[in-house]
Amino acid sequence: MFEEKDVQAKVVPYEEYNKNEIIKCPVCPWVGLPKDALREDYDEESTINFDLSCPRCEKMIVVVPYSKIS
Ligand SMILES: [Zn+2]
Repeated sequence: MFEEKDVQAKVVPYEEYNKNEIIKCPVCPWVGLPKDALREDYDEESTINFDLSCPRCEKMIVVVPYSKIS
């Protein structure tokens, strides 16, 4: 069952994803670069490339789906 959260992770298309852009956790004061976040890669079956979660509270911050343009 999908767990309803107050704040949803932001979906950022791969073309718009910028690894040098500061991201903010929506639920705690953590702010940082994607390299400092917890990254989870998905398998090839998924439409999601990877997601980034807060290293402090593990809230998912950004979801990056695979590019539709190949
Ligand atoms: Zn957080």
